[in-house]
Amino acid sequence: MGDNNSVDRARYDFKKSMQEIMNFKGRGTELISVYVPHTKLISDVMAYLRDEQSQASNIKSKATMKNVTSAIDSIMSRLKTYKAPPENGIVIFCGEVPRAGDQTKMVQYVINPPEPIGAFLYRCDSSFFTEPLESMLLDKKYYGLIVIDRKEATLGMLSGSKITVLKHFDSLVPSKHHQGGQSSVRFERLIEIAAHEFFKKVADNATTVFLDSIMDLQGIIVGGPGATKDFFIKENYLHHELQKKVVSPLFDTGYTDESGLKEVVDAAQGTMQDMQLTVEKEYIQRLFREIRKQDGGLSAYGETEVRNAANMGAVEVFLISEGLKKSHVTFQCPNGHIHEKTVDDPDVPIQCPDCGQNAKPTSSEDLVDNFFELADTYNARLQLISVDSEEGDMLLKAFGGIAALLRYKVA
Ligand code: ZN
Repeated sequence: MGDNNSVDRARYDFKKSMQEIMNFKGRGTELISVYVPHTKLISDVMAYLRDEQSQASNIKSKATMKNVTSAIDSIMSRLKTYKAPPENGIVIFCGEVPRAGDQTKMVQYVINPPEPIGAFLYRCDSSFFTEPLESMLLDKKYYGLIVIDRKEATLGMLSGSKITVLKHFDSLVPSKHHQGGQSSVRFERLIEIAAHEFFKKVADNATTVFLDSIMDLQGIIVGGPGATKDFFIKENYLHHELQKKVVSPLFDTGYTDESGLKEVVDAAQGTMQDMQLTVEKEYIQRLFREIRKQDGGLSAYGETEVRNAANMGAVEVFLISEGLKKSHVTFQCPNGHIHEKTVDDPDVPIQCPDCGQNAKPTSSEDLVDNFFELADTYNARLQLISVDSEEGDMLLKAFGGIAALLRYKVA
């Protein structure tokens, strides 16, 4: 369970940081991006940055020069904390970005990329250089594709909207209409043996291409022109782990080559969308069923109620909307009162509820991350709920994006 949360959380954090980074625009050419692959020596990077820093003294605009210099400083002091780059390398974005009014603020993002960085790269520009990371935002999850009849079969995969052909087979199964002079019973038998061997070959190849990555395999979509596809599935030719992933229903296509793969993907479009949202939908529907019970059932919703339940160890699954754009801040007033609060913008001053004085944030965290921590503390699952479905939209609008399914009722 914990592992499941940590993968989801890393992905959420990466996506959220990327959204922010891609939106920043500098006033001048002063936003710095540094990509350090695993194999690069930190000392080489430091030398490179020192060189860039000395060249920055040639920049005409005083303000830009100052901003570039201090951004490089900040990157260097961050890099100093590493003996070597992490396994996938490291990417640092740093620079002065506009804030409300005429203000600017220095931002720094340190990204541990989900995939390896290819080459060392330094950019100073009016926006951050994010292209090498953008493809990593794509989901690694994919669908397996099989189109089959007795003459031909093709294996493929669909990731994002890209279809890739993995294997193509022409069968040697003779056509039933071409009996020649042979005894028809014997010939029929030969045909069935040949067909059986062909189906086995297709299935064995499916095992080879899909079984290793079964963790990312969302489902196998099967299509073809006639009854062969149904026979192929019904007779359990596929490896049992793959067989479990076969998407129902099977789809009719006119072809069993590359264009057949395109046909089957088109035909399965609606089914795939439903599948992605199914897990989330099931959780939300379970929540609604609990809420409708006279005593409120095993549910909690709204931030305060969910936190209370969590602190009693009663939460089984947190249901948190991806559409939450809030921060959880700890703040302290001049009289030393300490409070925690959830706010839309952590930069807006807060009044102390005890004495009314202006209080300053001492720490601030994304609200979703804050709930991920709560989930880890209490060994609960956290399910992120996208806003793409009616249920997800309702969670955000009616319950403020925060709800939970409970292990037991809290008073
Ligand atoms: Zn106070």
